[in-house]
Amino acid sequence: MFLRLLTVPVKSIQGVNSTAAVKLARLGIQNVRDLLLHYPRDWEDREKPVPINGFKNSKVCTVVTVLARDWIRYGAKRTLKVYVEDESARAALICYNRPWLGKLLVPGEKFMLWGSFNYRYGEIQSGYFEVEHVGSETNNIKNSLGNIVPVYPLTTGLSQSQLRNFTSRALKQYAQNIEDELPPEIIERDSLLSKSLAIKSIHYPASWEELEKAKKTLIYEELFYLEMMVGKRALERRGVKRHSVSEKNIENEKYTPLQTRLLERLPFSLTAGQEEAVAEINRDMTAQAPMARLLQGDVGSGKTLVSFLAALRAVEDGAQAAIMAPTELLARQHAENAARLLEPLGTRIAFLTGNIKAAGRKELLKNLLMGTIDIVVGTHALFSKDVEYKNLKLVVIDEQHRFGVTQRSLIMSKGGNPSLLMMSATPIPRTLALTIFGDMDVSVIKDMPPGRKPVKTHLAKESSEKRVYEFIHRELEKGRQTYFVYPLIEGGEELKDAVSMAEKLAKEVFPKFKTALIHSKIPEEKKRQTMDDFRKGEIKILAATSVVEVGVDVPNAVCMVIEHAERFGLSALHQLRGRVGRGQEQSYCFLVYSDELTEEGKKRLMVMLENSDGFVIAEEDLKLRGPGQFAGTEQSGYLVLGIANPVRDAEELVRAREDAFSILESDPNLLLENHRVIARVLQEAPPFSEVAL
Ligand code: ADP
Ligand code: MG
Repeated sequence: MFLRLLTVPVKSIQGVNSTAAVKLARLGIQNVRDLLLHYPRDWEDREKPVPINGFKNSKVCTVVTVLARDWIRYGAKRTLKVYVEDESARAALICYNRPWLGKLLVPGEKFMLWGSFNYRYGEIQSGYFEVEHVGSETNNIKNSLGNIVPVYPLTTGLSQSQLRNFTSRALKQYAQNIEDELPPEIIERDSLLSKSLAIKSIHYPASWEELEKAKKTLIYEELFYLEMMVGKRALERRGVKRHSVSEKNIENEKYTPLQTRLLERLPFSLTAGQEEAVAEINRDMTAQAPMARLLQGDVGSGKTLVSFLAALRAVEDGAQAAIMAPTELLARQHAENAARLLEPLGTRIAFLTGNIKAAGRKELLKNLLMGTIDIVVGTHALFSKDVEYKNLKLVVIDEQHRFGVTQRSLIMSKGGNPSLLMMSATPIPRTLALTIFGDMDVSVIKDMPPGRKPVKTHLAKESSEKRVYEFIHRELEKGRQTYFVYPLIEGGEELKDAVSMAEKLAKEVFPKFKTALIHSKIPEEKKRQTMDDFRKGEIKILAATSVVEVGVDVPNAVCMVIEHAERFGLSALHQLRGRVGRGQEQSYCFLVYSDELTEEGKKRLMVMLENSDGFVIAEEDLKLRGPGQFAGTEQSGYLVLGIANPVRDAEELVRAREDAFSILESDPNLLLENHRVIARVLQEAPPFSEVAL
């Protein structure tokens, strides 16, 4: 039987009574399968006992005899103190909050101890230790001395030794029933363990080598099935045959009539990267299957225009397009641009956010349903329950990383199987792209519109901020504009905040130039006014929080000053820096940092100083933070992997993907004898079925 199907309740394991079952349930363990998949978080080396006087900083295993016991005062409590010895030394065990140890630690008896020791008050002490009676009969696992012992994540009222007993019994009762879930040729090729041995060894490995093999096997299996699901989805979406690059565009013209008219109206021509992306999108949208494309391009590479061209393509099919942005500020900017560029072509544009009032909203929803709106731009309000479309053919998600991945299923629920264009300037590192977006096609805009000069980045200590201000002053004199960004809206004590700095900049530092404040708590109407005035150049200095992080596009703003830069994450810093360098002028970014700088803060600033490529920065970010916190993936429920980590295990991931895709390509319905196992797993117990891939 597959492990996944082992749904016998935990109570069927000897020694698990109702009380224990309730506690196990708190760990998400309901049945035997859950218990066996409750992998240790660590393993302790109890292979060789160490004499008491040989203790180091780490935990050790010793064998001791109890000498005497005493009760001492520790705060208001009476605490048990037990004296023990071995051949090398004596030690005292302080049993904080464990008075019941008195029943166990009887003078004359021998125990195995696992713990760490210190010199305190002239004696060797341990306050944190585990004990096990040597030769104990009550303990179902044999003395863990001489073993590699699992350390499990616990919950209150459940001890390590209880959990060890449970897993060890569960293995005895059920391990032999566990069947392999990987195809035999892969197990053989990579010298992996059988599933049954892998599960046994992940809990109780016979050696460290075996533990490594068990991990390798289970990690690979997880990634293989993840990619199998991704691959199947990709095949379903594209029809059995995958897109090949040589596939001809059915329409011969490079651009549709509306697209051509838009391009003619622009004062510039598309970059090669934009052209290529549009060609790919046009090809996708001509095909039968809906498009699922991820458009990556660094900040400022001109993705918005590409999405407008895609929207026009949908409109020409007599359908609708929805463009979603993560903030109202950005949505409005897109809506205004769309109105400016697309309305003259005869398309009907609307703007929808949560802030639109009842009457206007009702009218708008009616028009969407009637089809009298062609392109709607907005926030996630575009996909609220009451929003219905007549014929939605394209959904664009801008700054995808800000949404998290679950949005995708929400959007798909609007029916009609719309095409999907996700855009991201925070490039998704390759490893995550292979998992989360594994079934999507990817377009990358590698080039920037011509004439852009790389942003010059400088680090400045807080104490030398004056010189930064002087520099900004000179740029302001030349007619340029600037952003100042702060980590807090207001009320900063040790930190500068946007509200008080807006005042200080206006009154003390740059009294000659008009300063305005912008942050998320400012009413939308006021925000809009401020952004309009900043765009028109009437406001010269914008004191802001990271609300200006995404999308804001004002080419004449050439300076970005980020104060307390060490407080911002790498992706935020990269996005913020991307607000400048959007025009022909040389732009500057100043990262002003406080005197107390953590190691990690320092590293982030160095990454920013040394790199301008968003892809590199994203990879560095991932290295510094780990995948769990990678933007957009944390609450998404996406990477519900048990033991695999797509970043750490990147190599395995790539291999698993190749294996999975090549199996699917040669045998899409998994009919071959060797693929029987996969077909059965996917049919009987699909591993990631509950995940909205
Ligand atoms: P992002 O990819 O960060 O979303 P935007 O779409 O905001 O970038 O584009 C940044 C700026 O570049 C905008 O002002 C836009 O009008 C301009 N732009 C876009 N494409 C081109 C191009 N091919 N040539 C010159 N400027 C362009
Ligand atoms: Mg953008």
